[in-house]
Order: sequence, then structure tokens, then C-alpha cells
Amino acid sequence: MKIVLGINYKAFGVSPIDFFSLIEEYDYLNAIKGIEIGLNLSEYVEEDMDYITEMAKKCREKNYLFHLHSPCLASVENIKAYLDFANELEKEYGKQINIVVHSINQRTVSESVRLTDNYVEQMLKYIKDNNYNLTISIENLNTMEGKKRLTKDDLLELLNRHEDLKFTYDIGHEIVDNIPLAKFPEPVIKKINNIHVHSHQEGKDHYPPGDGDDIESLQQFIQKLNAINYQGTITLEYSFDFLEGVIAHNRLKEYIEKACEFQRIIEINKNKIYFYDEEPY
Ligand SMILES: [Zn+2]
Repeated sequence: MKIVLGINYKAFGVSPIDFFSLIEEYDYLNAIKGIEIGLNLSEYVEEDMDYITEMAKKCREKNYLFHLHSPCLASVENIKAYLDFANELEKEYGKQINIVVHSINQRTVSESVRLTDNYVEQMLKYIKDNNYNLTISIENLNTMEGKKRLTKDDLLELLNRHEDLKFTYDIGHEIVDNIPLAKFPEPVIKKINNIHVHSHQEGKDHYPPGDGDDIESLQQFIQKLNAINYQGTITLEYSFDFLEGVIAHNRLKEYIEKACEFQRIIEINKNKIYFYDEEPY
């Protein structure tokens, strides 16, 4: 299990050089193995693209994983432009880039599945046709502001249909919807290549996990991952808004400390396996 820091433009106040200096200074457990950067191409900002390109170069130089997260792609043109940019980044990074994508949200579940299916198909085809070294990993979502979005069960059909499509299991999106994190369905085990971790407060997600129940859930979750011998990434998706500190540097420092806390949870549970799959936790 490799811990990755999930960030977006809110972290861009820390320059790429400072970003890695802070990790080197505060990651005393060597917990952080990479970064996953969120970017919406529909909100294209040139400075952001430059920042992300610099981060890809730095990840190559420092031997960190470099992944992308595109929460929202609005059209086929948008998808292609995004993949073209990801391909440019791949040249800087020098290795395959995993891109986490969201499903498209429509009025009904079947409409959402149909449109998402089309969008995934176009992405995979474009990657194949252009011989890009990119993977697509679709993420389960939660109900937001009363709107039902696709959960992991809604995505099973899609995951089965597209051989090359991977799955990012966002446990925060299940916890906030009160979905018991029971057992991994078979197709999910085969497809899962990334995990998103975050908690919630008063219905808002992307908080760092708190104490007590949160930690107990995470311990069981790690034991469940041990049971399937999970070797992929665990991306922390804590919003900069919910980390302590006035400036981005201080928030990043806290984020790094939280990554070390998570590493400790992994280590404490290293040889433990959670067998009681039927029981939600
Ligand atoms: Zn997520």
C-alpha cells in the first residue's frame, strides 16, 4: 500500500520546490510515495498547467508517483484535450499516469450509467488510438445536495464491460452516505487500483479522519485490504480548507503529518486480516 497525497489548486500556493522540501523535512516515516493532482480542464488556467507540469518533472526526479484526478469532463472535446495534456505530462514524468475520473450525473441512474459508459468508451478509445500511456480509474460517488450520484454498485456493470477500466474506491463517499463498508464485491477486487480516503463532518466530506470511530473504521479497512493483498495506492483526499494553518505551507505541513499518522495505522495493522466480511463496519 502506497500513500499518495491528493491535492488541487488550493495547494498551488506552495511551489513545487517547496512542496518536496517540506515532504523531505516532515515526512519522518517516509510515508508519502506520490501525489494525485485534481484538475478540471473546463476551468483551464495556464499557471495551473505550468504548476502541474513542474510537479510531473519533480516526481520523476524524486521518484514519486504522479497521478491525476479530473472530477469533471464536460464534453468529448474536453476529454480529448485533457488526455492530450495528460500525455504531455506523461512525457515529463516518464511513466504511466493513472487518471481518476468521476461518472456523469444525470436525472436517473440508468441515464447516468448510459452517458458515463459513452464517456468512458471515448476516453479508452482515444488512449488506445493515440497509444497514450495512461490508465483511467473511475470513482464511486455519494449523494450530493439530494442528487443521487453513481455508487460502486451502480458502476459494476461498467467495470465489467470495459476491460481496461480501473476502479478508485472512495471510502469517504460511502461513509458520508452511511453505506456500510461491507465486503468488496468480486469485480471490484479485480479492478481496484486506487483508494480515496477522507472523512466528513456535518454532511461535508474531504475532512481528515478524526479520532475514535474513524480510526477504528480505518483499521478494519486496512485489514480488509490485507485480506485481498492490496498493493495499490491509498490517496488521502483531505481538503486544504480543513487542514490547520493560515498559509498553504502550514496546511501542507499538517497534511504530511496526517500522512505519517495514516502510515502508522497501516503499520500497526500490517499482519492483521479482517475476516468478517459480512459485517459492515
Ligand atoms: Zn475521491
